Amino acid sequence: MKAVVFHGNGDIRLDRVPDPAIIHPPDALLRVTTSSVCSTDIHIKHHGNEMKVTPGTILGHEFVGVIEEIGKAQSPFSRGDRVAVSCTYSCGECYYCKNEFASQCSAGACFGAMGDGSNHGAHAEFIRVPYASRIMHKIPDELSDEDVLFVGDILSTGLFSAKLGNVKKGDTVVVCGAGPVGICVMLVARLYGASKIIALEMSKHRAGVISAQGLADRVIDPSEEKPSGIIKDLTRGRGADVVIDATGDPRSFGDLFNYVRPAGSIALIGVYNDAVSFPIYKYWWKNLTIRMGLVETNKMGQLIEWIRQGRINTRFLLTHTLPFNEIMKGYDIMDHRSEKTLKVAIKA
Ligand SMILES: [Zn+2]
Ligand SMILES: [Zn+2]
Repeated sequence: MKAVVFHGNGDIRLDRVPDPAIIHPPDALLRVTTSSVCSTDIHIKHHGNEMKVTPGTILGHEFVGVIEEIGKAQSPFSRGDRVAVSCTYSCGECYYCKNEFASQCSAGACFGAMGDGSNHGAHAEFIRVPYASRIMHKIPDELSDEDVLFVGDILSTGLFSAKLGNVKKGDTVVVCGAGPVGICVMLVARLYGASKIIALEMSKHRAGVISAQGLADRVIDPSEEKPSGIIKDLTRGRGADVVIDATGDPRSFGDLFNYVRPAGSIALIGVYNDAVSFPIYKYWWKNLTIRMGLVETNKMGQLIEWIRQGRINTRFLLTHTLPFNEIMKGYDIMDHRSEKTLKVAIKA
């Protein structure tokens, strides 16, 4: 089959590779019908060596597909089922899996990312899905691939961030960075009852998308206005109940503390690749809760149901659609993306 293979920093190719096969009883084999090129894939393209991605790994972790074959383990799925799949897999048996921290499973990995080279991803015609029954979710007939393309990655991240930040009814939530992930954060924060959402975003185009979709009550361009004063004005001088950072930018880390109210929460879901300086003596007194980390994708069923009910719609994120044989063009589009590019769908 054809697949996008990581060979080392700056070197990814559409290669011919052997078809995958079932190895373990809980595996399933999927024909990938739709996938997406995520900004993490671009990061791997350039920095995969530092990220401990094994050369030879097939990339891609945002995808849906049709089951071709199921391993011998008992499974509620059958051949021909259309399924959305989590971007990470996990064993279900270890301490972390049993305590709902499956992201930390020692037998788990993210498809097409850091790992021992067996965690091949979905930028291919077929994919082997380990522990498949745990991480696959049937797609209702009335929903298209595009409707649910993001439930296993960025929409789960949005939901995860709302839980990390403990977003409650009536909260004011500041979302830093309104790219596709930040947009998913806003979609879920609203469903969690946030009454005021303030987005920090420097791209005029994205600010326009956010306003047109009604995702935020106020968009602030931090290069033009000082966010902390505006946030205080909008929260009776207190600051936001919850601040969610989707940027992972060490340069703006310190600012998050100017946005949050005393005893509020900060959730960090953007991937930090460098150290930050943290004047803890200033903030210890403020009784803040700071949580961070890699997505837990254990609420995919809930997300699919919300999509089916029409309460969440992420179709507007798809600014480009390409056939699989043009997937390298999809990588180029994401790599050199203009502010008008949000997500690229790749169709089998
Ligand atoms: Zn991703
Ligand atoms: Zn586990």
